Amino acid sequence: MTASEMKNAILHHLVYTLGKDAAHAKTYDWRMALSFAVRDQIVDRWFEATRRTYAEHRKRVYYLSLEFLIGRLLKDAVINMRLEEAVQDALDALKIDWHELLEDEPDAALGNGGLGRLAACFMESQATLGLPAMGYGIRYEHGLFRQSFEDGRQVEEPEDWLSQTHAWEFVRPEVAIDIGFGGHVQEIGSRANWYPSEMLIAMAHDTPVIGWKGRWGNTLRLWESRPMHGFDLARFNRGDYAAAAEPEALARTLSRVLYPDDHTEQGKELRLKQEFFHTAASIRDIIRRFESEYDDLKLLPKKAAIQINDTHPAIAGPELVRILHDERGMDFEEAVGIARNTISYTNHTLLPEALETWGEARMGRLLPRHMQLIDRIDDLHRRETGTGHVNAHQDGKVHMGTLGFIMAHKVNGVAALHTELQKTTVFKDLHELHPDRIVNQTNGVTPRRWLLSCNPRLASLITEGIGDGWVDHAEDLEKIEPLVADPAWLDRYAAAKKANKVDLSNWIAETMEIGVDPDAIFDIQVKRIHEYKRQHLNLLETIAHWQEIRDNPNAGWVPRVKIFGGKAFPNYIYAKDMVRLANDMARVMNSDPLTSRYLKVVFPPNYNVSLAERLIPAADLSEQISTAGKEASGTGNMKLTLNGALTIGTLDGANVEIRELVGAENFFLFGMTAEEVMARRAEAGHAARAIAEDHRLARALEAIRSGIFSPDEPGRYHSITENLSHHDYFMVCSDFTDYWRAQREVDTAFTDPKDWARKAALNTARAGWFSSDRTIRGYMKDIWHTDAAPQVADAAE
Ligand code: PLP
Repeated sequence: MTASEMKNAILHHLVYTLGKDAAHAKTYDWRMALSFAVRDQIVDRWFEATRRTYAEHRKRVYYLSLEFLIGRLLKDAVINMRLEEAVQDALDALKIDWHELLEDEPDAALGNGGLGRLAACFMESQATLGLPAMGYGIRYEHGLFRQSFEDGRQVEEPEDWLSQTHAWEFVRPEVAIDIGFGGHVQEIGSRANWYPSEMLIAMAHDTPVIGWKGRWGNTLRLWESRPMHGFDLARFNRGDYAAAAEPEALARTLSRVLYPDDHTEQGKELRLKQEFFHTAASIRDIIRRFESEYDDLKLLPKKAAIQINDTHPAIAGPELVRILHDERGMDFEEAVGIARNTISYTNHTLLPEALETWGEARMGRLLPRHMQLIDRIDDLHRRETGTGHVNAHQDGKVHMGTLGFIMAHKVNGVAALHTELQKTTVFKDLHELHPDRIVNQTNGVTPRRWLLSCNPRLASLITEGIGDGWVDHAEDLEKIEPLVADPAWLDRYAAAKKANKVDLSNWIAETMEIGVDPDAIFDIQVKRIHEYKRQHLNLLETIAHWQEIRDNPNAGWVPRVKIFGGKAFPNYIYAKDMVRLANDMARVMNSDPLTSRYLKVVFPPNYNVSLAERLIPAADLSEQISTAGKEASGTGNMKLTLNGALTIGTLDGANVEIRELVGAENFFLFGMTAEEVMARRAEAGHAARAIAEDHRLARALEAIRSGIFSPDEPGRYHSITENLSHHDYFMVCSDFTDYWRAQREVDTAFTDPKDWARKAALNTARAGWFSSDRTIRGYMKDIWHTDAAPQVADAAE
């Protein structure tokens, strides 16, 4: 598409879609007009992919996830369609600022963190690989809350990405699926009719997901809940306005909010209803599509693969069995076999408290037929395995992890260590019964968004050196290794990083009024705020470092900027205290004339995908410091490695594989292993001993206790200091000394800029394996047993 065609398309949409005269158009209007013009380019390719899938009777992959953290879509679409030049030139001709339009787009935060962002990266990789796939999620009216700080405290405000029209979606009022809850079951022999007492409708909204060079397009289908019976006019006419609107409001509640939590059981009825709503609508849609093509449901596992992202859609097993057995009349055991061969389950956690359970009373009330089927599935599983001790329904609860496991042909972990630990911890018993079921698929990230798009300076340096093949074969990044030996090339690598740091410094100055030195180490910890991720370990080290600088301000310290980003779950008081402590520390340290040249603390609010895209390219140091054995994989760690940040980290999650690939000499390792953590935890008084043995740690804790950072309320962080001194489940104190040592190694390494640049470039060169294309290929081979389709031609540049 030429620039002038693009310009005409934008103007056409401005006038005829948005009804705006160019003379009065605002940023929003231009952004929408541009988005529609780009979307038009996508649609034909998207249709073509769907036509081919039908024509060739391809197997489809269905990715069911309660979260899709997709972020902004405009730049992604422009880059994948190779429209950058046309758009840039068209907007120049119209005298419109491209960056202003990009910044105007709401960031769709339909997820909490890693799990939801993984789903978004997977959608992009599936499209890039030409795999016929569909993502199913919920179209939350309010995504993850917007975070701001008041006096350092986290304040949550509703996120309202839908307050403006969402440019990328197509509303499908004709795809409306009835969803029931409650009621009663009438058994007829082994089958049953379920008569729900409450009904609502799931309505589809489709967003095309276009792969690299526009060669393939898939669909992200998000469900909105709607009332079955709209507005009660009779009540309204009687003047009972609130009651008239009530059924509609209740029905819509289901897709109103994303639960701000991916690690603890929410225990809320609404959450269970959301899970069933999402799963039932998706399964119904999958069966409808299957039956439009085939008439033998026995073929289902050959033609459809259903992946459930964590346990949230684990009711998929019983629901599919219900449809096959109760509604289609298939024999129960056969129905279970077909469902199991179709479904596979990704487990994301080793935290036992995060494995979802639902009380049998609630489940039985909301989903009476599913409760019966779960018992029959358990019974069948007991007969199959000849054992009685592993049941999904046990101790008055339905264990969704067990249900997911029993009803899947494959269960995957998300990093090598996580998968191995699964076998010995959360799924030990099930693994013994089904030794071939657990497989590993280490997570990945799309290099289109997480290098090409977010870091154009580095991307073009790489492309100039080795061509653009790395964009869809990220392993090709290793071809830059010979360039790393060339001092002139390495200077350019370092210059790209420096320019990114200057950009970030300017943004920090403008938005937060904090001056930072772009020559300092940009030390970044961005992720959900959680004790297991140990932001407090980083904070304690920061305090100790600050104290040493104060002791000896002229000792030639290596300047650092400590950057934090992340949201604390609104009911998680301890995590919110960590946020406030970081902000209190920032206030004190950034204004300390003795130290502020050497140490700054910056905590930009509202960490989301867009902020990640801004921070990650500017990072020198990636903090991946979770307690070993607690982080399933991490994906932020991969993004930072790809962008040339060196990791300081524990042997946890995918850090293990990152270190193996980039080389131990290019990674700052510290801390106990998962085994050592378990052994140490069993020792009484481990925290007190660690504090007694490390004067820096003792002094840092004392500083918090003394109220230096919270003079108006000295006891503010009592719960943190007490917990760390006496309990310290996450081993902050026991790992502190080694963390301190590793941080000082970082300082030393940074004083040799050439060698640092070399290490950073090697991180980039060796991170290609962490492409989500590799992950998706792994799922295709080991779990989904499917091929990619021949793709449509490349979108021309
Ligand atoms: N939140 C956002 C916006 C992300 O982009 C990511 C991952 O890259 C995460 C959270 C997860 O971060 P981590 O893997 O470090 O927990």
